[in-house]
Amino acid sequence: MSTRTAVVTGASSGIGEATARTLAAQGFHVYVGARRFDRVKQLAEEIGGTALELDVTDEDSVRAFTDAIGEVNVLVNNAGGAKGLASVLDADLDDWRWMWETNVLGTLRLTKALLPKLIASGDGLIVTITSIAALHAYPNGSGYTSAKHAQAVLHRTLRDELLGQPVRLTEIAPGAVETEFSLVRFDGDAERAAKVYEGIDPLYAADIAEIVGFAASRPAHVNLDTIVVKPRDQAGPGSFARRS
Ligand code: NAP
Repeated sequence: MSTRTAVVTGASSGIGEATARTLAAQGFHVYVGARRFDRVKQLAEEIGGTALELDVTDEDSVRAFTDAIGEVNVLVNNAGGAKGLASVLDADLDDWRWMWETNVLGTLRLTKALLPKLIASGDGLIVTITSIAALHAYPNGSGYTSAKHAQAVLHRTLRDELLGQPVRLTEIAPGAVETEFSLVRFDGDAERAAKVYEGIDPLYAADIAEIVGFAASRPAHVNLDTIVVKPRDQAGPGSFARRS
């Protein structure tokens, strides 16, 4: 059997990086994309994959990235994140634009471009990393929750649109995962970011990667639709059991 190919967006850190490692260990040739090329280049060297520069908010960058890829069996729409925590009254339009461009339109651009190749593979899989923010609204989170809801609805729409095509769709909606996510959300404020995970046992990137790997290794007739995964210490977006 020829080597199966996977594409992971946002593979320069966190869930994307861990997912690329897991899929490579399962025998996939993995294309890893992100804006921080030095990081994906190093990762590709370690896992025997291919590194490409990718900015999911930029049409030309997405075109160059997707044109460089031949066959695709698995697409992991992972690139994304949050910017800030603000009430609707105090919403920062630039933060909203960043979140919608990256999570929603980024997922749309990559999915649109690679869908014909996923169908042509005869056994395609699209995994989209949404969030429990795609299932709930929470105070001061509307920019992120609305973007994640939109990203999730885009992904879920494909389940019907692609019915009859050889493409599976898996949505993974994690709770708190300790990655660079909060560092990005709080603009590099490491102290504030660390507080998010203080006193709890959060999930780690490898926990999510393992789930992607499980979905990607099911037989072609098995579609894992939606997987919600949270730390035991988390019941909902703002509900944590914190130890002092
Ligand atoms: P992370 O460590 O900050 O990783 C985010 C990744 O997205 C980075 O590799 C980053 O790469 C990439 N990215 C951001 N903007 C991009 C752009 N314009 N073009 C290409 N890549 C871009 O955070 P993470 O937790 O692993 O996040 C991965 C996904 O999981 C995101 O969609 C996030 O919303 C979701 N998620 C995270 C959590 C959590 O608690 N951590 C929970 C639920 C869902 P560059 O900066 O190098 O481009």
